[in-house]
Amino acid sequence: MKVAKGLVVGLDYKLHVGDGKIIDESLPDDPLQYLHGSGQIVPGLESALEGMEVGQSKTVVVPAAEGYGEYDPAGVEEVPHSMFRDGVPEAGAEVPATVQLEDGGEEELLLTVKEVKKDTVVIDLNHPLAGKTLHFDVTVKEVRAATPEELEHGHAHDPDGDHDH
Ligand code: ZN
Repeated sequence: MKVAKGLVVGLDYKLHVGDGKIIDESLPDDPLQYLHGSGQIVPGLESALEGMEVGQSKTVVVPAAEGYGEYDPAGVEEVPHSMFRDGVPEAGAEVPATVQLEDGGEEELLLTVKEVKKDTVVIDLNHPLAGKTLHFDVTVKEVRAATPEELEHGHAHDPDGDHDH
């Protein structure tokens, strides 16, 4: 079976951003499971995997625009200490936050604390990998049909993991 939309793919992967230093990887014998075509992984990787077969390996270089997006300088803001209800975080910390979108919706994201000043905190709303070219080494370990539940949810389920959503 080849990787195609609506199938669940088990993937061994390693990720670096050009310097060869691995910043993320799947655990041995525990491939990442995702539902192909559902946007669970970055678009550039998803399209490169299309049509691959079990056992095939590939190096995929994904430009920022097809990865976590270009770095947006407007994503850096200075906010008052009072914005942090659980106390002011340290520089370098990644803090979960809910951001109001222009269309009235909300988005959960991780913001990065760049600098803590006397009364304010400089935060960066960009994804930590925004603006980076992503280098993936991937091996397709498994391709299987998705269950009706997975298709309904739009993501793969861990066969023996808890399902609480
Ligand atoms: Zn689910």
